[in-house]
This record gives sequence, structure tokens and C-alpha cells, in this order.
Amino acid sequence: MTGLTFSYYCYVCSHNNRISAEIPKAPEMKEIEVTCEKCSDQTHILVTSCPSCESGIKYFLSDLNFPEEIRRLAEAYVSVIQGIKDSLADYIEEFNVALPKRWTVKLKCTCGDGYTAEIPLPYELR
Ligand SMILES: [Zn+2]
Ligand SMILES: [Zn+2]
Repeated sequence: MTGLTFSYYCYVCSHNNRISAEIPKAPEMKEIEVTCEKCSDQTHILVTSCPSCESGIKYFLSDLNFPEEIRRLAEAYVSVIQGIKDSLADYIEEFNVALPKRWTVKLKCTCGDGYTAEIPLPYELR
């Protein structure tokens, strides 16, 4: 992990905030809290950096739809598995399916390198 500075454009007022934080290299991701210096909007973002050039930083707003979508997908997946498990309960005693712990996203850096980052799923689903 290295201390890096990057631009975060507020999704409420579009203000360019300069954020300094310890940013892990992909596939690691870290959640940080940011506060817009202009409109004081507070949000959480998931950040990662390009493993090749160490300066291509990507972030995802973790308070917006994107992770919510993942959360819903993960929940749907878990309940499908649970359904299969229930329907097989009379036939087999043990039914284990490895649930994904992380969601992988493909990213492209300005240095030209492609890499993947892993978004951790909510704790209760692991
Ligand atoms: Zn703002
Ligand atoms: Zn790069």
C-alpha cells in the first residue's frame, strides 16, 4: 500500500476533490470515506490502483447503485443455492457449494494495462 493522491469528482456537485489516502494495488480494494469540500456530501468509495504503474487509481462509489446491484445479485445467488439445498434435503445429507467471497471487475488503466480488482461481498453473505 502506498499513499497516493487522486481526484474524486463529487457526484452531487461535481466538485474536484483532492483525496490523499493509502491505496492498495489491484486486486485489493479498500473502502474509504470522503467528504466533498464544497457541498459536504459524505460518501464511501472503493479504491484500487493499477498494479503496473501504481498511479492509475480507480474508484467506485460504494453508496450508490453499483455495489447495491452486486449485493442484490449476491443475495439472489445465495437464495437460489439455498433453494436447491432445501429441495435436496430429503435426498442428501450434506450439500455444500462454495459461495463467491468476492466479485471481480475488469479495469483498464491509462497506462494501457488491463487488470482485475476484487470487490469484497458484504460480510453476512460470506
Ligand atoms: Zn460536492
Ligand atoms: Zn497503469
